[in-house]
Amino acid sequence: MTGEIPSLEDLPIVEGTRVLLRADFNVPMTDGRITDDGRIRAALPTIAWLRGRGAAVIACSHLGRPKGAPDPALSLAPVAARLGELLGAPVALCPEVMGPRASEMAAALAPGGVLLLENLRFDPGETSNNPGLADALASLAQVYVDDAFGAVHREHASVMGPPARLPCAGGRLLVRELEVLDRLQRDPERPFAVVLGGAKVSDKLGVIDALVEQCDTLLVGGAMCFTFLLAQGHGVGDSLVEPDHVDACRELLEGGVVRIPTDVVIAQEIAASAPTKIVPATAVPDGWKGLDVGPETAGTYADAVRDARTVFWNGPMGVFEIEAFAAGTRTIAEAVAETKAFTVVGGGDSAAAVRKFGFEADIDHISTGGGASLEFLEQGDLPGLRALREGRRA
Ligand code: ADP
Ligand code: MG
Repeated sequence: MTGEIPSLEDLPIVEGTRVLLRADFNVPMTDGRITDDGRIRAALPTIAWLRGRGAAVIACSHLGRPKGAPDPALSLAPVAARLGELLGAPVALCPEVMGPRASEMAAALAPGGVLLLENLRFDPGETSNNPGLADALASLAQVYVDDAFGAVHREHASVMGPPARLPCAGGRLLVRELEVLDRLQRDPERPFAVVLGGAKVSDKLGVIDALVEQCDTLLVGGAMCFTFLLAQGHGVGDSLVEPDHVDACRELLEGGVVRIPTDVVIAQEIAASAPTKIVPATAVPDGWKGLDVGPETAGTYADAVRDARTVFWNGPMGVFEIEAFAAGTRTIAEAVAETKAFTVVGGGDSAAAVRKFGFEADIDHISTGGGASLEFLEQGDLPGLRALREGRRA
């Protein structure tokens, strides 16, 4: 699959070639400050490769969810500044996504120069996959590189349009992400353990369906375990549940691959000061919510991770943002860091948890695309990848 996607080496890049680079600079920000620049760092190998060949780079990305109009709080200005620091070279920010300024600034770029267009989603055509926006973006450059793994599951203009208009390739990050997912999907070394948590079971039923066929054990935590417990007829108190998905959960449990918690940490409210109790997972009292897996569950899940040869983890085991409900997630993160297995973590919050607990360096691959990695594992392909595979060749 990855082999069919053209790579940087396939592009006709010479001194001064203008390259449109779709990156994923959708970084977490608080009050206009970047709190985690991981996604910017992840794009550096491709940018360095392009500049090393004398290309002029016109980078573009979305940030957050502006409503199809400029929103100063979601400007890419902080990203341009941070990217400039990391590259040790100035990165100009074009105040528009398309228009005369974008054309002028792109045309004026020197070899090795880097320009960043303003947030793609300031233009309503990005999410509606508007051909006019695709034309405008493509007109800025001579070739197109997609390194935005976190966006390849979206049929958006900057992902779908340029590959049909310009010679195209996947960047270093995109190729690396696909190699890793391919390894999980095609020929995982066994035992293959999958750990899934997070907030919503509805987000993850599709991938669970696909993964139960491929893995040896699928360990469920997070809020979604309560829909499974409900499916077995247990009381779940005020825990988050999605009753519409109870039947699907019951069916999944029949296969014997899916395992659910035996004990959970409960509280009456999601607050650092709330008193907590550890109870059997089958007996969450009314008025209480399950907010983390219990120590027995965390221990058995961690053992399965340690015994595995391949591990994929998506979704925290509890409300790890609050210390009182973080122990389950920390125990899993530690096991994923320690195991001899090939380890892959996907999901924005799971990745944040791994970094928060200091285990980043001991994990083989932390995906920059949570949604994209889940959809890839579920469907085996993604729209943006098809666009590259079917796109123009040099
Ligand atoms: P990821 O970003 O890694 O894919 P999700 O976005 O699916 O993960 O879920 C992360 C969120 O799930 C976290 O904010 C966490 O607080 C929340 N969460 C985990 N367990 C529970 C729970 N038992 N009750 C409520 N929220 C939970
Ligand atoms: Mg998330």
